[in-house]
Amino acid sequence: MRCIDCGFETELDQKTITCPRCGGILEISVKLPSTFSFSRLRGRGVWRYSEAIAGNYKTVVSINEGGTPLIRSKTNENVYYKFEGANPTGSFKDRGMTVAISSAVNEGYKIVVAASTGNTAASAAAYSARAGLKIYLVLPKDKVAVGKLAQSILYGATILEVEGSFDVGMKAVMKLYREMGIVYPLNSFNPWRLEGQKTIAYEITEEIGVPDAVVVPVGNAGNIYAIWKGFTELRNAGLIDKVPRMIGVQAEGASPIARAIAQNLNTPEFTENPETIATAIRIGKPVNWKKALRAIRESQGTAIYVSDSEIVDAQRDLARIEGVGAEPASVASFAGHRKALKEGILSNSDKAVLILTGHALKDPDSMVRSGSRRITTNPDYLEKIILGDLNANS
Ligand SMILES: *Cc1c(COP(=O)(O)O)cnc(C)c1O
Ligand SMILES: [Zn+2]
Repeated sequence: MRCIDCGFETELDQKTITCPRCGGILEISVKLPSTFSFSRLRGRGVWRYSEAIAGNYKTVVSINEGGTPLIRSKTNENVYYKFEGANPTGSFKDRGMTVAISSAVNEGYKIVVAASTGNTAASAAAYSARAGLKIYLVLPKDKVAVGKLAQSILYGATILEVEGSFDVGMKAVMKLYREMGIVYPLNSFNPWRLEGQKTIAYEITEEIGVPDAVVVPVGNAGNIYAIWKGFTELRNAGLIDKVPRMIGVQAEGASPIARAIAQNLNTPEFTENPETIATAIRIGKPVNWKKALRAIRESQGTAIYVSDSEIVDAQRDLARIEGVGAEPASVASFAGHRKALKEGILSNSDKAVLILTGHALKDPDSMVRSGSRRITTNPDYLEKIILGDLNANS
C-alpha cells in the first residue's frame, strides 16, 4: 500500500484505509499471480476474480454482484454498454461494497458509515443488512433521488440528513473515521472498495478483449481509477497489450476534473456549490481526484463535461433507441461519447465501452420528466385513438 499524497509505503493491512502518516489516500498495488489465466477462473461476478483482489477473506459477504451485461449498440457495432444497473441494488457500487463489507467483517468491525449521493447508501445498506452490521448514512437533505432513499429505508439503515452538498457529508465521515477508530468508512477513499470495482475491467476484457476507450461518468472519481487499475494490472501481467483511453465525463455544474484536464492543471479548482440533475455525480470536491487525473493522463485519455440538457436527451435517446434505461448520472457516459465523437476525441471506428453506472429506476422523477404521450380515456375509445393516429400519418 502506498500513499498518493506523501509516498509512505506499508505492507498490505486490511485494517488500514487511509495513510497512517498523513491521512492521505492509499493505493493498493496488485501483481497478478503468474498462474493467472481467464480460462481457469470459476464462478461469476466480482469474486470470480478473487485471485486479483487484494486481502484475505475468510467470510465473503456477497449478493451475487457483478457479471453485468455488456450490451452491443444497435447503431454502432464498435460501441458497448456495460449495464451496471443489473447489480443487486442497481448500481456498480455493489462491486466495491462486497469487498469493503467483507473486509469490515473480517476485521471485526460492527459499525459502518458512509456519506452518499444515494447509490453508495443503497448498496451499503443492503450489504450491512446481509452482514448484520449497524449502518449510519450521511445524505445531503432533499438531494437524493427517491429510489435510492427508498432502498436505504427498506434495508433499515439509520439515515442522517445534512444541509449542503455531498462534500459536507464526506468531510464529516472522514473526520468521524479518524477520531473514532470503531467505525468503518465505506466511501471510495476506502481503497478496498476500488478492488471490487476494478472487476469491471476484468469482465470487459474477458468478454471482448481490450477496447480502445472506456467512457465513465465521474463524481467522486474512484470508479474511473478503479477501472484503469484493473486494465493496468492485466497489462502488467501481459494478458493484454494496452490500457484503453479512460474518458471521464462530468456534469457541467460539477466538473472540476474535466476543467483541470482542459486547463492542464495539476490540482483542480473545486466547486463550492455543485449543481446538476445528475445527483449521483453532484460532487464539487472529488476525494479521488489525484487518482483520477493519473488514470486519465497515463492512459492518454481525457475528461469532458456535458450539460444537464445533454444528459436529459441522452437518457431519453438511450432508452428509446437502444431500449436501455439508466439514471441521469449514468447516461453522462452516453452524452460524453456523443460529444467525444463530435469533437473528434473519438471516432466511430474506436471500440468504446460506455459504463452505465446505475439503473433508471433509481430516479423515477427523471424518468417521468422525459415525457411521453399520456391520454386519460374511456376504454371504448382505444380503437378511435389508434385509427386517428393511422389517419394522421397517412
Ligand atoms: C457513484 C456513481 C457515480 C460516480 O462514481 P465515482 O466513483 O464517484 O466517480 C456515477 N454514476 C452513478 C450512478 C453512481 O452511483
Ligand atoms: Zn501519506
